Amino acid sequence: MTDIAREIEQDSAVYKTLLESTKAIPWKIDWATMQFAYIGPQIEALLGWAQNSWLSVNDWSDRMHPEDREWVVNFCVSQSQSGIDHEADYRALTSDGNYVWIRDVVHVVRNDDGEVEALVGFMFDISERKKTEEKLLTLQKELEELSFKDGLTGVANRRMFDSIMQLEWTNSRRTGQPLSVIMIDIDYFKQYNDHYGHLKGDDCLRRVAKALNTAAARSRDFFARYGGEEFILVLPETDAAAAERVAERCRNLVFKEQIQHDYSAVSQILTISMGLGTITPSQKDEPRAFIDAVDRNLYLAKQQGRNRQVSGLD
Ligand code: GH3
Ligand code: MG
Ligand code: MG
Repeated sequence: MTDIAREIEQDSAVYKTLLESTKAIPWKIDWATMQFAYIGPQIEALLGWAQNSWLSVNDWSDRMHPEDREWVVNFCVSQSQSGIDHEADYRALTSDGNYVWIRDVVHVVRNDDGEVEALVGFMFDISERKKTEEKLLTLQKELEELSFKDGLTGVANRRMFDSIMQLEWTNSRRTGQPLSVIMIDIDYFKQYNDHYGHLKGDDCLRRVAKALNTAAARSRDFFARYGGEEFILVLPETDAAAAERVAERCRNLVFKEQIQHDYSAVSQILTISMGLGTITPSQKDEPRAFIDAVDRNLYLAKQQGRNRQVSGLD
């Protein structure tokens, strides 16, 4: 053996050792025959299939999740044909029937005439990364839900109300259908808290929210916790008379809960007061001003003795 040949042999032994000691799994496919010219022995530790069981690209595509197979094979073949380096994430089948997320990074090797000669690449185990990504997505979704939900009662919160109100306001302006809003406030709730304690107060809020949540039955009717012991109903395509009936139902639903309140000046059973408003907004109307007017009606209901509703806009 010449010195050069020995050197080359030593060099390739070094490269082989290097390739086979990385976590990424190297492979080479001969383009003309579509056979594996090489695949790293690490493949067995990762997927369980023996190194010598990887003969052709069919072994590769057969050992892929059926949902990933079609697009991955089509994508890799078309990229390779065009001579473009590429990468693909897919689920590889293990010998015991499970799946491992893999990122395959592919380099297209051409001969001197520019024709595709081989594909060489590395497979990376990305299952941990995928798990983290999935966890992040679930967390993000949970957070999104949480950020529109009131933590205490589980109904929609003020933020959600703001979005829905804006949406229904625009809808109502476009369709010319009346939009009604009912603002609800528990009577003498401070006394309730002071005498029964904050925890009982929280229980009471949950019960009231649950009861009120059933008051409006149409699919676009919307109910939210507006603030401390205040709730709000948005009723699209609802005129003043229909809103009155919903408010009446609210009062009955809360009364039916029969929440004892010995320190209320209006009744021994917990009651609510409500302000109502109905509008078909024109260009010059503002949601803010409308909500303020509804709030004034609530204030009037309190002034006029509580356990009642006041409607009409000036
Ligand atoms: P009014 O009949 O005029 O509405 O009297 P009120 O006592 O209900 O009105 P006020 O606004 O003075 O009191 C509301 C009380 O609601 C004060 C506050 O301690 C209580 N509150 C607000 N948020 C919560 C909560 O999340 N949990 C509990 N337990 N109490 C709350
Ligand atoms: Mg209040
Ligand atoms: Mg109150």
